[in-house]
Amino acid sequence: MKLKILKTFNIREHSIFIWMILIAIVAAILSTVFSNIKSEQTHQIKSSLDNIYLKKVIKEITSNLEPRYTTLQYVSKSGDTYQSIVNKLSISTDEKKVLLDNILNEKSLKILKINQKFSFKLDNLAKVKIIEFIIETDKKNEIYFSRSETESKFVSKKIKKNFRKNLVYKETIITDSLYNSAIKLGIKPNVIIEFARLYGFQVDFQRDIWKNDSFQIIYEEFINDNNKIVDTGEIIFANLNLQNDDLQLYKYEYEKNKIDYFDENGKSIRKTLMKTPINGARLSSSYGKRKHPILGYTKMHTGTDFAAPKGTPIMASGDGKVSKAGWCGGGGNCVKIKHNSTYQTVYAHMSKFGKGIKKGVRVKQGQIIGYVGSTGMSTGPHLHYEVIENGRKVNSQKLKLPSGKILKGEERKKFEVSKIKIDVLKSNLISKIN
Ligand SMILES: [Zn+2]
Repeated sequence: MKLKILKTFNIREHSIFIWMILIAIVAAILSTVFSNIKSEQTHQIKSSLDNIYLKKVIKEITSNLEPRYTTLQYVSKSGDTYQSIVNKLSISTDEKKVLLDNILNEKSLKILKINQKFSFKLDNLAKVKIIEFIIETDKKNEIYFSRSETESKFVSKKIKKNFRKNLVYKETIITDSLYNSAIKLGIKPNVIIEFARLYGFQVDFQRDIWKNDSFQIIYEEFINDNNKIVDTGEIIFANLNLQNDDLQLYKYEYEKNKIDYFDENGKSIRKTLMKTPINGARLSSSYGKRKHPILGYTKMHTGTDFAAPKGTPIMASGDGKVSKAGWCGGGGNCVKIKHNSTYQTVYAHMSKFGKGIKKGVRVKQGQIIGYVGSTGMSTGPHLHYEVIENGRKVNSQKLKLPSGKILKGEERKKFEVSKIKIDVLKSNLISKIN
C-alpha cells in the first residue's frame, strides 16, 4: 500500500515532464509548419515578381506615370558654347532663344568654362517648357534663373553655395598601381584621372610606373556644412617621381580664366615632339617612296633623313623612355624612345650612343642620345629619324602636335611668383601633417 501510493506519486511527478516534452514537440512541429508556410509565401511572392508578364505591366504603369517635371544635368566640355548646350534640350526654337538671351545677358556668365555644371528643370505639362535652370559660375557660386508660368523672361539671382574650399596635400609611394595607391589615400577618382591626363604627354602609365616610385599632389576639395566632401576642384601642384627623376607640374593662370600646367622651368607640360632632333643638319631625304640608294629599287622611305657631319649630336625629340639602344641591322646603331602610349621615335645610323643611353633609361626632350654616323645600310653620315604613331610609321615633318608653350619675359616672372606661392603652400601643408 505504501508502495502503491509512492508509485502514483511518482507517475504524477513524471507527468509534468511528459507534458513539458509534449508541449515542446508540439511547439517544434508548429514552428516548422509555420516557417514552411512563410517560406512558401515568400517564394510565391518572389516568383510572381519574377513573372515577366507582371514585370511588363509594372513597367507600363510606371512609364505611363511620367513626372510633370524633368531635371537635366550637363557639364560643359571643351568646344562647347552656350548655344550648343541650349541646343541639346528638346524644346522649341523660340524657347531656346529666350534661354540663350537670358544667359548672354548675365554678366557673370560671360566666359563659359570647362566643367561648368548646368541644371535645367523642364515642365512636361502641355508643351515642354523650362521653368528654372541653374548655371554654376565656379565651385562656390551659381546663378539661379526662374520664371512664372505666364512670363517669358527669367529672373536671375546669385546663390552662394555653402562650400568651403580646402587644399589637400597627399603623397605616397606607389606599391601596386598608381590608381590603387591614390584610392587608398582617399583621393577621388576624378582627381586621379586628371592627374593621369596631365602626365599623359610624358608618361606611359602602363609601363613607366615602377614599384617604389612616388607622387605628391595638391588639389582643391569642396566641403559642405556637414563636413562632407561634395566636390573636387583643380590640381594645383603634382610631382611624379619615377626612378628618382622628378616630374613636377604647377598650375598657372597665364591669361584670365585660362590655366595650364608648367614644369619648374616654365615649360608647358603639353610636350610636342621635335621635328628636327638635330642641330645644323639639312633634310636630305624625306618620307615617302624613293629609289633606295643602296638596294637600287623603289622602296617606301618610312622616315626622314638629315645629312650632317659625323659626330653631330642627336637629341631626344621628346621626353620618354629608351626602349632600345643597340644594333638594328640596316639601321646600324639605333635608339628607340617610347614617349607615351601613342608616340615612339627611332634614330638610326649613329656612330655612337649618348652618355648613359641604354634600354630603360628616361630621357628629357633635347637630351643628347647619340651622334651622327653611317653605321648599318648607309651611304654617308646622316640621321634617319622615324616617328611611330599608334604602331604606324608616320611622316614626322607633317605631324600636327600641340605646341609646348614656354613662358618667357614678363610671363615667366609672373609664373615664378605663382610657383613660389605654390611651393610655400606645399611646405605649409606638409608641416601640418608632420
Ligand atoms: Zn632614312
